[in-house]
Amino acid sequence: MIGRRRLPEERPGVAPVGYKVAGLLLSVDGDRAAFAGVSIGRSRAYGVDAEAHCAYGRRHAPPAPRCDCGFYSLADRAEARALMCATEYRHAALLRVDVLGRYIRYERGFRSGRQRVTSVWVGACRCGNPAELLVDAGTGVVGRRGLVGSCTGCAVGRVGLSFGSYARLAGVPVAADASPYVPRGEDDLVPQLVAEVTLLQARLDRCQEQLGRLLGADPE
Ligand SMILES: [Zn+2]
Ligand SMILES: [Zn+2]
Repeated sequence: MIGRRRLPEERPGVAPVGYKVAGLLLSVDGDRAAFAGVSIGRSRAYGVDAEAHCAYGRRHAPPAPRCDCGFYSLADRAEARALMCATEYRHAALLRVDVLGRYIRYERGFRSGRQRVTSVWVGACRCGNPAELLVDAGTGVVGRRGLVGSCTGCAVGRVGLSFGSYARLAGVPVAADASPYVPRGEDDLVPQLVAEVTLLQARLDRCQEQLGRLLGADPE
């Protein structure tokens, strides 16, 4: 008799950690935070602690082997973060999750029946600057509005929600994703530019002073 082939089972003492991109949601009353899937579970909101339901309404518990439902996450943070460069995920947030319940491990990550969000990194503002607060994304699902990160400059005149407020509602830490425009190993690029601008400003001041003297405008 030929037995059914089974994949090796894992029973880890500590939940595996996964990373994924998601939309940020705020309930209609502004009192609850939630997340939105970006692919097959796009229209479904989930909380910090969530159990997956079959995205096709089938009567099985995800992750069913012959279906593709369940919570997806990648094992590598850099790989999940790289997704945020794709046009459709440009304004998504990066989540770190504990992979819980039954899960199927694949080459790059996991598909699980449960997950717990443990950290949120907000994607860059539309202008490219790191996000400093959350504003209305102009998207949403029934009962929940979508939020995106914005810098304070671009948020002028708009209603915004601080990372701290969202973190309190969600119960997990919320921070901005690091600026993508500072090349690795060149963290001192901005201070260098500031120093150069200061030097140019000093030269300009001296020129104006000399010009003023030549024109006899100087009171001396
Ligand atoms: Zn399914
Ligand atoms: Zn901006």
